[in-house]
Amino acid sequence: MLHTVDVGEFSLASYRGVAPEEVLDALAAVAARLRGLRVLHLNATPYGGGVSELLRSAVPLCNDLDIPTRWKIIAGNEAFFTVTKKMHNALQGAASTPTPAERRVYEDTSRRNAAMLGADADFDDFDVVVAHDPQPSAIRSFVDSSPARWVWRCHIDTAEPDPHTWSYLRDFVLRHDRTVFTSAEFVPPDLPAERVRIMPPAIDPLSPKNMPLDRATAASVLNWIGIEADRPLVTQVSRFDPWKDPLGVIRAYRLARAEVPGLQLALVGSMALDDPEAWEIYREITAVSDNDPDVHVFTNLTGVGNVEVNAFQRLSGVMVQKSLREGFGLVVSESLWKGTPVVAGRAGGIPLQMADGAGGLLVDSVEECAAGMVALLADPDRARALGAAGQERVRRHFLLPRLLLDELTMLDELVN
Ligand code: UDP
Repeated sequence: MLHTVDVGEFSLASYRGVAPEEVLDALAAVAARLRGLRVLHLNATPYGGGVSELLRSAVPLCNDLDIPTRWKIIAGNEAFFTVTKKMHNALQGAASTPTPAERRVYEDTSRRNAAMLGADADFDDFDVVVAHDPQPSAIRSFVDSSPARWVWRCHIDTAEPDPHTWSYLRDFVLRHDRTVFTSAEFVPPDLPAERVRIMPPAIDPLSPKNMPLDRATAASVLNWIGIEADRPLVTQVSRFDPWKDPLGVIRAYRLARAEVPGLQLALVGSMALDDPEAWEIYREITAVSDNDPDVHVFTNLTGVGNVEVNAFQRLSGVMVQKSLREGFGLVVSESLWKGTPVVAGRAGGIPLQMADGAGGLLVDSVEECAAGMVALLADPDRARALGAAGQERVRRHFLLPRLLLDELTMLDELVN
C-alpha cells in the first residue's frame, strides 16, 4: 500500500481579499464543471522541497472545491533515490548516462510502486493521476491498465537536459496524456507540443510559512534559535543542494560582511526523504562555517520549520537565492510576498518572478551577489520599494488560486 499523506482543510472563501477576485471567480467556475472528478497526486516526499509544499496546500483546496483529491508517496530505498537524484541533476544539465544497473534499480522500483498502487483499494476510483518529477515518472508504464488520464508534472529546470538521461526518461514521459512545465524554455524539443502545458508554480499565502506574522513575534521566534533580530541579517532558505550554491552564498556573505559590520548569515535547509545528497552538502557547509559565530546553519531536523522560515523571510534585510539552476524557486515568491527584497541567481524560474526589476536584484556571480546584498542593506528605501513591487507581482501571478485555475483548466480540457 502506498502511504497517503494527511492534509488539513481549507476553503476557497478564505482567499477572498487576498488573491485577485477574478482568479477566484474563474477558479470556482471551472471547478464547478469538474465537480466529483477524483484526482491522485504521486510524489516522492511528504516534506522538504517545493513539490510537497505545493501539494500540502493544493490538495485540501481541491477537496473544498468538490474535486476529491488524494496525495500518495511512492516507496523507494536509498539506491533508488540516489539514482533519481542523479537523474534530477542530469535533467538540470549535469552530464550523466544512466548505467544498466541504475536503469534496473529505477525500473524495478517503479514496477513495484505500480503494483502497490494497482493493489490499493481506491486505485480504480481515480479519474486523473498526476506524477511529479522523475521519481514516479515510469510508474505509468508499469501499470497494466488504468482508466485514468495521466499527467507528468516537471518542476525541474529542463532547459538543457543531459541528452542520454532525457532520452531514457522520455519514453516513460510519453506514456502520459499531458506534460506540464514551469516555463516554455524548459520544454525539451522532442515532446509533442499538443500535449505540453506551461504553468508556473505558486505559493499559499495562508500557510503557516506565509501567513501574517507580526515583527515582534517573528523577532522572538528568531531570538529563540540564536539570531539577533536587531543586527543586520541575510538568509538563504533551500534544500542543501549544489544547484542552490550554499558555498557561494557563504563566500558572498564574507565579502559583504567586510562592508556591513555585524552582518549575520543564516542558511536554512531541509533534509527531504528523497535527497541523499543533502547530508554531504551539509557537511561541506559546516566545514567552512563552524568556527564563524555569525554564520548560522539550521535544518528541519533541529526544529526549524515553517514558522521559523516565515520569520526569516520577514526579518532578513535581504533574502538570498543564489541558484545556479532553478526549477522555479518558491522561496523567491515566499520572500517577496512578505515585502522582503531578494538577491537571486539569474537561473531557471527566478527571473520570471522578478521580471521588470520587481523584487530585487538578479546576479551571476559571487561578487555580484555580495554587491547586491551590500547595496540593498545600505539603502532601505530602495530595498522597501523593490520588495513592495515584488509583493504585488506575486499577488497577481504567483498565488495558489492562479495555479489551481491553470491546473483545473487543463483537467477540464482533458476529461470534458
Ligand atoms: N523549505 C523549508 N525549509 C527549509 C528549506 C526549504 O521549508 O529548510 C521550503 C521552502 O520554504 C520552499 C520549499 O521548501 O517552500 C523549496 O521550494 P523551492 O521551489 O524553492 O525549491 P526546491 O526544493 O523545490 O528545489
